[in-house]
Amino acid sequence: YGEYNQKIDYVFKVVLIGDSAVGKTQLLARFAKNQFSVDSKATIGVEFQTKTLIIDNKTVKAQIWDTAGQERYRAVTSAYYRGAVGAMLVYDMTKRQSFDNMAKWLEELRGHADKNIVVMLIGNKCDLGTLRAVPTEDAEEFAQRENLFFMETSALESTNVETAFLTILTEIYRLIS
Ligand code: GDP
Repeated sequence: YGEYNQKIDYVFKVVLIGDSAVGKTQLLARFAKNQFSVDSKATIGVEFQTKTLIIDNKTVKAQIWDTAGQERYRAVTSAYYRGAVGAMLVYDMTKRQSFDNMAKWLEELRGHADKNIVVMLIGNKCDLGTLRAVPTEDAEEFAQRENLFFMETSALESTNVETAFLTILTEIYRLIS
């Protein structure tokens, strides 16, 4: 039983990108292990985590990549994007700059990744609603213009994290199957 005998039908590589401190590592920890740690940098250096799920009776292994701090030095390499079939563009909804930088991240993504990559815009930290600096409508408008899926999440409170990953993985599955 368990993982050992599991037949994997698909492996989907999904990359997380966005400014430092927007919550990429915690979103991944929440999705892959249902964890959240306040002292986030315990996980630095981790390249990716996997989670196996069933979509449409198929076993899909999601391999989610975290920049592990590379983004601080604008040194996210093309190896990071290689083979990715999905990308999550993450901003912190309490930090306007992190949203304004989404256009740059998207440009970098489009320069490196496959043209059919499924992209989702994520406004994280929605538990900090009173500090909101990015109206939902601004993000919706950007997402619509750039043809991205969009969701607001909280890795801390576990809001929409599962839904966001399931949405992007299901869409990838729909495209390749
Ligand atoms: P990364 O640099 O993008 O990987 O960001 P981290 O995942 O390391 O998170 C940066 C900081 O934001 C840490 O102090 C986290 O605890 C905090 N954080 C991450 N996600 C959330 C969230 O959904 N809500 C709140 N309030 N804080 C968060």
